[in-house]
Amino acid sequence: MADILIIGGGIAGLSAAATLAAHADVTLLEAEDQLGYHASGRSAAVFLEDYGNNVVRALNHASIDHHRHANGGVLSPRGMLLVARPFERDRFLREANSFGMAEISKDEAQGIIPILHPENTGFIAHREAFFDLDANCLLQNYRKTALQNGAKILTGSRVSKITKTAAGWQVAAGEVAHDATILINAAGAWVDEIAQMAGIPPLGFQTMRRSMARLPAPSGHDVSGWPFLISVGERWYAKPDAGSWIVSPAEEDPVQPMDAWPDDMVLAEGLDRYEEMVSEPVTRVETSWAGLRTFAPDQTLVLGADVNSHSFFWLGGQGGYGFQTAPAASRLIADLVLGRPAEMSTDIEKALSPHRFSE
Ligand SMILES: Cc1cc2nc3c(=O)[nH]c(=O)nc-3n(C[C@H](O)[C@H](O)[C@H](O)COP(=O)(O)OP(=O)(O)OC[C@H]3O[C@@H](n4cnc5c(N)ncnc54)[C@H](O)[C@@H]3O)c2cc1C
Repeated sequence: MADILIIGGGIAGLSAAATLAAHADVTLLEAEDQLGYHASGRSAAVFLEDYGNNVVRALNHASIDHHRHANGGVLSPRGMLLVARPFERDRFLREANSFGMAEISKDEAQGIIPILHPENTGFIAHREAFFDLDANCLLQNYRKTALQNGAKILTGSRVSKITKTAAGWQVAAGEVAHDATILINAAGAWVDEIAQMAGIPPLGFQTMRRSMARLPAPSGHDVSGWPFLISVGERWYAKPDAGSWIVSPAEEDPVQPMDAWPDDMVLAEGLDRYEEMVSEPVTRVETSWAGLRTFAPDQTLVLGADVNSHSFFWLGGQGGYGFQTAPAASRLIADLVLGRPAEMSTDIEKALSPHRFSE
């Protein structure tokens, strides 16, 4: 019998397994044959400390040291440009301020990204402290640490039944039944479904599709040093990726939990919004993909023991911040599961707790 069973082999489950396995007997169950197959394999792989609400930002802040230094670090400098149309001055100022960005002239911006549309781009702000985050490296680092600390990681283990027992939980995955004292629900888009299997009321998570298109670098430009480029109102964003240029329509379309794929029309409309702001037309899409971002009703992660069951822990609602927040979120779930004083402040702990939905 394991001390702790974790359901979900994305960044949430793997980071929790790595952090807890040094202190407990941990087994992680992942439905797919590979780890990080769903949201965690489809991210934009960036880190912006000032992204998300204040609770998310506190987790980002508490994660940055790990991202910078652990196992050689996973961050590399990218920089960020925020662009707005000529009639979006107020919104531009609000967002530039919220992201801690400085306004720059069109000429300066052209020197950084020469394809910005000279008339349609009204205002531009720049921020140096914005990073590419090597998402695959972070996943692999957590996987290796979990295994080194003795965790069992079982792929192809789709959980189909969860039963409360005298000692804790029995979880059926395929033909195998796993027993554990504590259950951690890190099932991404499926967190509510897992809760319901365990007889725990769902919390009302919403999954939202977001797509990405990989384009050839605009007319032969070397894009490798270009910053992350995002429109005011997050109507689209773009970034260099291994010599190509990826563009996301940045949609937030509610969908059921599924193996997500891009909607052609949504992608085309998003590329239109991007094209309005650049002087190089989109000539070809090399590949496209989509992933699910899963949000709690208040857009904040849900982290802690369920109100009705002290042995059922939620680790869900990572939304668009699952990689950014993983180091701090996994340390906090470990503190809560192990009954240690938490490193995060009590206010942040409360804001993340599932108890907030029943007050
Ligand atoms: C397009 C896009 C761009 C993004 N960009 C960024 C970014 O730049 N930075 C950032 O920090 N975040 C980003 N995100 C968000 C980030 O990818 C997610 O927050 C994160 O991957 C969520 O991780 P997870 O482990 O909770 O979910 P997942 O990776 O989906 O993992 C959950 C796992 O649970 C498993 N599971 C479900 N049901 C069962 C079951 N019954 N039995 C066993 N296993 C089960 C699933 O198979 C899945 O592998 C982005 C997301 C998208 C879609």
